[in-house]
Amino acid sequence: MRVLVMSDIHANYTALMAVLKDAGQVDETWCLGDLVGYGPDPNAVVEEIRDIPNLTCMLGNHDAAVTGKMAFETYNGDARRALIYHEKVLTASNMDFLRTLPSTAKVCGDVTLAHGSPREPLWEYILNLPSARINFDHFTTPWCFVGHTHIQSMFVLDEKKDRITIEQPKPDSVIKLHPKMILNPGSVGQPRDRDPRSAYAIYDTEEQTWTPRRVMYNIAEVQKHIREAGLPEKHAVRIGEGW
Ligand code: ZN
Repeated sequence: MRVLVMSDIHANYTALMAVLKDAGQVDETWCLGDLVGYGPDPNAVVEEIRDIPNLTCMLGNHDAAVTGKMAFETYNGDARRALIYHEKVLTASNMDFLRTLPSTAKVCGDVTLAHGSPREPLWEYILNLPSARINFDHFTTPWCFVGHTHIQSMFVLDEKKDRITIEQPKPDSVIKLHPKMILNPGSVGQPRDRDPRSAYAIYDTEEQTWTPRRVMYNIAEVQKHIREAGLPEKHAVRIGEGW
């Protein structure tokens, strides 16, 4: 089975469409959350995601905030401004869809899915060795897929040597999976590794491989939408630079 794994779309519809086109035919789609927040097109993104067949979708922290499950005060001013805008423009049925998304980690075959981490699915960032080490004890499947950091990356635990390594694998490299690993497909709508191209991954369940991918999209068009919506200029600048 060929699975599209993506995360952190952040109301960037143009980027989402580029990813869906680039990924091609897949058997399932696993979305690790944060459909909204930051970007200009929350309704178009939620509607597109809802219609994807064989979809598994997690709740992200921005999705939790916009549906009233988390206080806006926990977000900085610029992030909060986008959430206030999204709360205002999201349709009732799109809000209802976001409310159905699970906030706890979910097991799909050999993989545990979480937005942030298996230990703390909504909030924790797995960015470094200490946070990865703690989280390897919080899932029992061979692999765990997370988003939230917006950085395409992988953490590998060598159980014999009790050692963890972090890698940012090259796009299009086919990585053979072995127990235990934590993998992050990166962000569709707001990459933060200085590469502004949309990030996602293809997981092959039979071959047990993970292929991180990047695809360019029309960034200028999205920047225009951000400015037209009156959202913070910072959100337009950062998608052009990848931070
Ligand atoms: Zn996010």
